[in-house]
Amino acid sequence: MNFYDSQKITTILESKGYQLQDSPDKADLVVFNTCNIRDKAAHKVYSDIGRVNKFDNKKTIAVVGCVAQAENSEMFKKNHAIDIVLGPQSYHLLPQMIKDLEKKSKLINTEFIVNEKFDYLSEQHRPQGISSFITIQEGCDKFCSFCVVPYTRGPEYSRSIEAISKEADLLTSKGAREIVLLGQNVNAYQDLSLNKVKRLNHLIENLSKNENIKRIRYTTSHPINMNKELIDCHADSSKLMPFLHLPVQSGSSTILRKMNRKYDSNFYKEIIYKLKKAKPSIQISSDFIVGYPGETDKDFQDTLDLVDEMKFTQSYSFIYSSRPGTKAASESDVTPLHIKKERLKILQEKLRNIQLKFNKGFCNKNIEVLIENKSASNPEYFFGRTPYMQSVYIKSSNLKDGDIKNVSISTCNHKSLYGSC
Ligand code: SF4
Repeated sequence: MNFYDSQKITTILESKGYQLQDSPDKADLVVFNTCNIRDKAAHKVYSDIGRVNKFDNKKTIAVVGCVAQAENSEMFKKNHAIDIVLGPQSYHLLPQMIKDLEKKSKLINTEFIVNEKFDYLSEQHRPQGISSFITIQEGCDKFCSFCVVPYTRGPEYSRSIEAISKEADLLTSKGAREIVLLGQNVNAYQDLSLNKVKRLNHLIENLSKNENIKRIRYTTSHPINMNKELIDCHADSSKLMPFLHLPVQSGSSTILRKMNRKYDSNFYKEIIYKLKKAKPSIQISSDFIVGYPGETDKDFQDTLDLVDEMKFTQSYSFIYSSRPGTKAASESDVTPLHIKKERLKILQEKLRNIQLKFNKGFCNKNIEVLIENKSASNPEYFFGRTPYMQSVYIKSSNLKDGDIKNVSISTCNHKSLYGSC
């Protein structure tokens, strides 16, 4: 979502005459779009500001996004070089704030004014490429005990199907063939603008009518919002890809309860089995937090057992990172860091082996790949993705971006497939 937001910010500024520079050294204005999900990411902004300001203290520095929202005016105290602090729901105000710096030296806006932002941003477009993002939902009402998102992005808010369809039309007119629907709780999507509530399955059905859209994905989902209609949509929609990122966070029901995830391990497994029944080819990826306060060896073993049973084909896993202001931050955390690191290593090795085995199953077979672009690292190759989100590098001289091709896979590693056509 931050990648998408950064593109929107660039478009807004370009429409006001700013020019994007390829290095911060050449820029008069540097905008940091920040993530507050983990401690390390939140700290990074301060060291990055120091780096861009090393040779020239005259740059205008704007910090936008979730760290700005969470740390608010404290940011000015922590780093005097910062001129603007702007929360993620107000970055359409950035050009005016830059202007206002002529009258005032420090400016801040961390209000939640989502619909105004979306009204403004629906006019702002920068071609994103063959696979393009559309934010359809923002915010979160779930309040997982470890997470800052409900505090930084505000309550759940969905855009109308009409506004999203218009944005999809614009993106496809600029070449997009795959639309990735984004939201912090994307499957909590609900369009309330009509007499009858329309949910994510309705939106997918609607977008599927656009002939230029060949593939649809959505991310990130919460297990409790995987309703029957959405599961059925995986069976019914040929454009909805058979791949779903459905974060579980832990395989232990005890830890899930402490995390306030609102489901237990059995509920999660049932959702996956229902999805697999509706769409047998579907593959699932997940997120894991290792070493949540109070996680025992038994809890960690439950996570390993869940991975063995579910066979996630891609995943993100991290050691728990305490975030100020969350409920989990006040919980006693006695597990030593070296044990958490050891658990993470064991989990990641298991996940990597499953992913490698899954990828190996495609060797000496053909798979449909949506060609996205020429590989940046090797011009002899094109880059594309399978329906299951695997990266594919294809040796060929005559492919076109946006083509869907049957690619013969010759080799792979756990991250990527390699082939020709
Ligand atoms: S559902 Fe996701 S975004 Fe919301 S609080 Fe939980 S982890 Fe954070």
